[in-house]
Amino acid sequence: MRDPHLHLKDMDPDALRGWLVAEGDRAYRAEQLLGWLYARGVDDPVEMTDLPQELRDRLRSSAVRTRSLETLSVQRSVDGTRKAALRAADGAIVEAVLIPDEDRTTLCLSTQVGCPLACSFCATGEMGFTRNLRTAEIIDQVCRMREALDPEERITNVVFMGMGEPLLNLPAVLRAIRILVHPRAFALAPRRITVSTAGLVPKIAALVEAAPVNLAVSLHATTDALRDELVPLNRRFPLATLFSELGRLPGLSARRPIFFEYTLLAGVNDSVGDAERLLTLVRGLPSKVNVIPVNPHPGSPYRTPPDAAVDRFLGVLSRGGATVTLRRSRGSDIDAACGQLAARDFVVRPDRPMG
Ligand code: SAH
Repeated sequence: MRDPHLHLKDMDPDALRGWLVAEGDRAYRAEQLLGWLYARGVDDPVEMTDLPQELRDRLRSSAVRTRSLETLSVQRSVDGTRKAALRAADGAIVEAVLIPDEDRTTLCLSTQVGCPLACSFCATGEMGFTRNLRTAEIIDQVCRMREALDPEERITNVVFMGMGEPLLNLPAVLRAIRILVHPRAFALAPRRITVSTAGLVPKIAALVEAAPVNLAVSLHATTDALRDELVPLNRRFPLATLFSELGRLPGLSARRPIFFEYTLLAGVNDSVGDAERLLTLVRGLPSKVNVIPVNPHPGSPYRTPPDAAVDRFLGVLSRGGATVTLRRSRGSDIDAACGQLAARDFVVRPDRPMG
């Protein structure tokens, strides 16, 4: 990726301050700039009226970019979920999803264009991997999606659960988190931010130590044989390695549990035996289990289990003392649900020749 521009939103608050000071500006200009770019969502320097004219001119230089993503389209689901396709300067397309709920509005962010992990049930995996997103492109998803909010809405929670594996792009993700939590920027509490990983063991402690955000781990299977198949990353970091690392993490408690995501696949990982093994794995760790009946996508061999199988699975877990929640599928009519992000409308597929 060769982009000679300075993307202002690549800098976390400290780096922005350092850059301004190095340019000869006063340090407090950083707080003002954070307010404009993030709290107010203004990215045209002309409008930044409390900055000196001369600084505004420098920010308008053709070498500087204050905006790193453009909105291509926003689709709205019958349940209010919105999915946007956003275009980067090099033409890459990423998707972000807004999920309104009774007491919250969650924004789901992408961290990569595509994903290299190729989990067998996930649509993003099928599109292959193009590149990591830069910090400016991660944080600009928040700016663009705020423009898609209804008047009474505001973003209360952010989850790194869109396209890509966040821990393969950890430095950029951490810079984005520092912008999300900065009081002059988005002022989000760290506990309202969740980073989800398929289990990139060597990076988990680095995340947890760098930011007091929630950790989610995509588990999906309770034996190495099956997890090797569903989440190929398991071949490098098998269950024993993953759980020994999770058991060593500092700062976990009932108030800061690990969230395990378990996508239920009919006839594959939804038996009573699976539920019992899952209990054994998570026992002893402060944790919550999030069960997600799979959202099938075209060409996928996986099916959603019948309600009775879902209930049976949840029953075994809760009787065994696990804290479990069932994640209702949101936005599946616009391919915005978990594992459905594939920028499908923008991919020319071989079975659909261009007219
Ligand atoms: N790579 C990270 C971030 C993506 S999070 C991770 O794997 O955690 C997206 C979540 O949705 C993951 O838990 C993923 O396993 C789950 N998911 C993927 N495809 C899905 C599908 N088709 N139906 C339901 N959940 C799915």
